[in-house]
Amino acid sequence: MTVRQVRLFGDPVLTMAADPVTDFDRSLRTLVRDLTETLRDQRGSGLAAPQIGVPLRVFVFDVDGVRGHLVNPALEFPSDEEQVGPEGCLSIPGLYYDTRRRLHAVGRGLDDHGRPAQVVGTAEVARCLQHETDHLDGVMFLERLDAATRRAAMRDIRTADWAAAAGRRVKVSPHPIRGLLR
Ligand SMILES: [Zn+2]
Repeated sequence: MTVRQVRLFGDPVLTMAADPVTDFDRSLRTLVRDLTETLRDQRGSGLAAPQIGVPLRVFVFDVDGVRGHLVNPALEFPSDEEQVGPEGCLSIPGLYYDTRRRLHAVGRGLDDHGRPAQVVGTAEVARCLQHETDHLDGVMFLERLDAATRRAAMRDIRTADWAAAAGRRVKVSPHPIRGLLR
């Protein structure tokens, strides 16, 4: 197992849609182990493969005692109920913003051997499933914020130590921001 470097906001891999996994081989299981080890090292609640530079539809999670991974996940929402609460991202370290999400979510996909897998989540688990699935679609949680909060977030990011250290120019996407619920 290897702790991998987490890509930070501004890295193009974070805005690309990831590819479905087609080979359920040893390299996939290594990827899942590396993601799990990196998540533990970073003390995060979820980590998607694009965040370590691998554009595949895989994420791991460890939140509220629910831990595991999903490959090629699809989300379903059993109800329209929503929640608003602080959300962060290992690719935007140290910054948290109130984010609107569905309260309940069911993630269906496969495990690293290609067997069906399912995660039923509410509250923080549901939030994590939505956040990580967004990563697989190249969507950062900033896109889920209301306009005023997003402007504040962009200001915070521009002055964040990690952004300066990375020497990257952080820009607001010129593309229209998607709605809260696509
Ligand atoms: Zn994230």
